[in-house]
Amino acid sequence: MTVFASPVPLFLPRERLQALVDALRGSGRRCLGPRVRDGAIVYDWLTDVAELPTGVADVQLPGSYRLERSGAGRQFAWATGPQALKPLLFAPREALWRVVRGDDGRLAFREVVPDVQPLAVIGVRACDLAALALQDRHFLQGPYRDPYYARRREQLFLVAVGCSHPASTCFCASTGDGPRPQHSFDILLEELDAGFIAHGGSSQGQQILTALGLAPASEAQLRLAQAESEHAAAVQTRKLPSRNLRGALFANLDHGRWDEVAQRCLTCGNCTSVCPTCFCHSEHEVQALDGQESEHLREWDSCFTRGHSHLHGFTVRPDTRSRYRQWLTHKLGSWHDQYGRSGCVGCGRCIAWCPVGIDITEEATAICGQSA
Ligand code: SF4
Ligand code: SF4
Repeated sequence: MTVFASPVPLFLPRERLQALVDALRGSGRRCLGPRVRDGAIVYDWLTDVAELPTGVADVQLPGSYRLERSGAGRQFAWATGPQALKPLLFAPREALWRVVRGDDGRLAFREVVPDVQPLAVIGVRACDLAALALQDRHFLQGPYRDPYYARRREQLFLVAVGCSHPASTCFCASTGDGPRPQHSFDILLEELDAGFIAHGGSSQGQQILTALGLAPASEAQLRLAQAESEHAAAVQTRKLPSRNLRGALFANLDHGRWDEVAQRCLTCGNCTSVCPTCFCHSEHEVQALDGQESEHLREWDSCFTRGHSHLHGFTVRPDTRSRYRQWLTHKLGSWHDQYGRSGCVGCGRCIAWCPVGIDITEEATAICGQSA
């Protein structure tokens, strides 16, 4: 990772946020930003800051997510919605190659290259930047660089926002990934009532900020932003028993809690879909009806599906108990062997979007103990 020495933090008055969006669009990037759609805050095309969720707050609990009016004038006073950066880089469904039968009956294999335009994403949170760093390791830094992910990643410009209003399901302070973004952004904004402290995180980000002609942030503004960030960490009530549960989980493969959670889990796979670090997928062919062409598709898969562990002639994990155990022991245990850290960045999505409210922090604590 290139370390960029950021110059002095600047102050972006709220009424000049549109100038930042205009500058990003003027630099040839399309902008995605947080917007309210179907009762949730999701990334959508953004041209005008009036489209941001101003005065909107979220209430997140196990198995529950809802929005309400806060009456305040902030634009980012809420925690992560169901979407992370993951679908923007690792497409939920895409063709990797195409096979066409020629007139002579011979098959021609054609590469499918995604058509990618420069993209700026506004409002990315610390947990999702930590997840992005993990996905970069998986897709770009292993023995096989994924060209589909790489193309999108090269065109991505990130405007991060520090979290000041974590949800009750958030626990990024416990995983060490938030609430203040530390890396992987081009610009970082920290929201105050009157505007934003703006930090450059890359030379491209700094160039955009410099062109806005902003004044340096005052000492008082910097202290306020720091106090808000510390408060956002302090109010988080959920936590994992330790940042490394590898030993404790594998020492408890026969714990009775696996049976208990299996009584509640529906194996729906929602947790893996919303998780910003999950990367499992399946691949299959889809043939055209006339038999002249077929596409090789990659689609998100989940360790909760039967097919995920199907080997020739049998299924390795036939029941809910073994699938939930696979999810937790991989996410919080064997990720340490693969990537040197846990696969959980504390975003809390799998808690809020689990239809039966299964809480990863509660399950890990039940299996590993309070001080694993
Ligand atoms: S396991 Fe749950 S809390 Fe952890 S990163 Fe995935 S969705 Fe977020
Ligand atoms: S833990 Fe919850 S979200 Fe995950 S598969 Fe089970 S029921 Fe679905």
